[in-house]
Amino acid sequence: MSDPLAGASWLEEATGPLAAAHAAGRTPHAVLIQAAPGIGGERLATWTAQLVLCTARRPGPLAAGLTRAERAAGRPCGECVSCRRVAEGRHPDVASVRPIEDSQQIRIEQIRELCADLALTSHEGGFKVAVIDPADTLNRFAANALLKTLEEPPPRTLIVLLAAQPSRLPATLISRCQRVRVRPPTRAESLGWLERARGVGEWAAVLEVIGEAPMAAAGLDPAAVGALRAETSRTLDAIRSGAADPVATAERWSRSELPLRLTCLENWLTDCIRRGLAPSARPAELRATTHPPRADSVMNTRALFHLLDGVRGLKAALAAPINRSLALESLLRSLRE
Ligand SMILES: [Zn+2]
Repeated sequence: MSDPLAGASWLEEATGPLAAAHAAGRTPHAVLIQAAPGIGGERLATWTAQLVLCTARRPGPLAAGLTRAERAAGRPCGECVSCRRVAEGRHPDVASVRPIEDSQQIRIEQIRELCADLALTSHEGGFKVAVIDPADTLNRFAANALLKTLEEPPPRTLIVLLAAQPSRLPATLISRCQRVRVRPPTRAESLGWLERARGVGEWAAVLEVIGEAPMAAAGLDPAAVGALRAETSRTLDAIRSGAADPVATAERWSRSELPLRLTCLENWLTDCIRRGLAPSARPAELRATTHPPRADSVMNTRALFHLLDGVRGLKAALAAPINRSLALESLLRSLRE
């Protein structure tokens, strides 16, 4: 079975309009899937490719009395050769476009090559599908080149764009796409999917660190994440009190698990801000006092927000060729100040 949506109800929910349009013979030329990272947008893209390339339809218990159109309105079977090839990433009529290694962008040459390929006849005599992921990394020239193809698409072509932040795409491009918004899963849905995919484990603790991103969590080791989180918090407390060196810490963190460390740092700062007080305040002291936070605590909160912006900025810039150690060091130093 190659059902990419298995157990993911939040993804299933997003399929209705696409399946209906395809069944009615109104398959869009372009679909824009809007999904936060780690919640399975790429699985929905795979499903969408299967929808138009499936060479069978799942019979299902209710299939007997259905008309052809009703049957087609269902789902890709997930079992035929075509569905399996799509799921395994080796269907000859599915092209995948991603940013070139070490580059944060999808470039115009890639889109030109893709459009030339889409203009050719399909191998299997059906649809040709392109998956552009993440589409919000299309640079301006690439987006314009793609727009030209979307204005006059070759027949039986489906372009699937996957983006966490479609607002980065030109409005003219977005307007040519059928939009599919994927809602984030609930905690219960995330846990259910993870246990089904990876077995019972401390998944709640992983989600506590990385947020509602079950597909991202599936690639992590719960015990390692727990240990990393605890160690990061201890080190941050130590930097704050002067017991640990920001320079050495930055150097060490930048060499291993930096994205996860930054997420832990982000959580640590958010916790501090949520408490509305400086990180040095102990919960016991908070409970013991009936006085409002002191003025310097309020200022500290402002500084913490500033620091949080810095951490998020660094996370966003991780793919760029920057000196990570130096950037992190400056953040950790400001923690002490
Ligand atoms: Zn199939």
